[in-house]
Amino acid sequence: MTRSLDVLVVGGGQAGLAAGYHLRRQGLDFTVLDAGAEPGGAWRNMWDSLHLFSPAEHSSLPGRLMPTRPGETYPDARHVVDYLADYEKRYDLPVRHGTSVHAVRHDGERLLVEADEGSWRARTVVSATGTWSRPFLPAVPGRAVFRGRQLHTVNYRRPDDFTGQRVLVVGGGNSGAQIAADLALHGGAEVIWVTRRPPRFLADDIDGRALFDVATARRRALDEGRTGTAGVAALGDIVAVPAVRAARDAALLTSRPMFTRLTPQGVEWADGDGTEADAVIWCTGFRPALSHLTPLALRGEGGRIATEGTRAAGEPRLHLLGYGDWTGPASATLIGVGRQAREAAREISAFLRK
Ligand code: FAD
Repeated sequence: MTRSLDVLVVGGGQAGLAAGYHLRRQGLDFTVLDAGAEPGGAWRNMWDSLHLFSPAEHSSLPGRLMPTRPGETYPDARHVVDYLADYEKRYDLPVRHGTSVHAVRHDGERLLVEADEGSWRARTVVSATGTWSRPFLPAVPGRAVFRGRQLHTVNYRRPDDFTGQRVLVVGGGNSGAQIAADLALHGGAEVIWVTRRPPRFLADDIDGRALFDVATARRRALDEGRTGTAGVAALGDIVAVPAVRAARDAALLTSRPMFTRLTPQGVEWADGDGTEADAVIWCTGFRPALSHLTPLALRGEGGRIATEGTRAAGEPRLHLLGYGDWTGPASATLIGVGRQAREAAREISAFLRK
């Protein structure tokens, strides 16, 4: 059976829920399809020790502040999952969990959304599928010959899994620094942190709050045609969350430049020396999960879809939320996605009234 509606939201993580909140306020008929069996999006799969880099009150979706917990400035991932589950329930958002969308195609005036549970004919679609399901691994020579374990950020859970092992952690971003710190501080693994360029720590007093303010100021400056304001990237790559700071201050977080190749036993460095290793954890980022949009043939350079605000430049019935700054400033953060969701809902409402 094919059902018809105004808006179909693909993905029920924080971006899909923020979209639902604002679509409801616009009085639109919508459904959210989410592949996850339960609420929480990617937060449900994060490693045990992960904490947000912003305090709770700066990590909220529209309408409801994230509750604070006594003695905990930066909430853990479990707290975010609980908050998102409560949010979904509180606003009675129509989310169908355990429903994966395979394809979105043109269907006359509508878009046909094909899921494993049937299909929907939607006047507009919001894609909010995140990046977690598309871990990125760089093409490093020898990856296929290494006999140890290879994991990505998405598979890492806790340091105890590596007790007594020599572990290479690859990546100079927040995930690499946090996982290297987690392993170095607990669990008894020997950690070698590998980064392409020397790690750039943000000043200790800069957390997600300040990052959001800088991103907002930069966006405002660009909107007003001013180019002198530096963006978030100018501040550094790694937020000095407490665990990262502790490991760095204990000199446990010094990095080596990237190795040239993997060997069956370990890695080979630029000077020809080798190091044996039991495991390599690739903290090398993600790509947007957009394969369901392939039939629309909208993807350009780097696999991205060109956008104007949140709307796909080549398809006025499609909006993208989350993913990264290319769908709006701070769109892939808890505090930032609300604004983009509001703009998308307003635009969709105006489009449908035409
Ligand atoms: P997701 O949470 O990934 O949700 C997408 C949902 O879509 C999932 O439920 C998935 O099952 C579903 N889905 C995917 N494909 C399909 C499909 N084809 N059909 C149906 N459903 C589908 N942000 C902050 O604000 N503060 C932080 O401290 C912070 N820390 C982070 C730490 C790490 C390690 C990472 C990776 C990110 C962090 N972020 C942080 C960034 C961001 O907030 C999260 O990545 C967040 O999960 C993005 O939300 P989302 O809704 O866009 O995607």
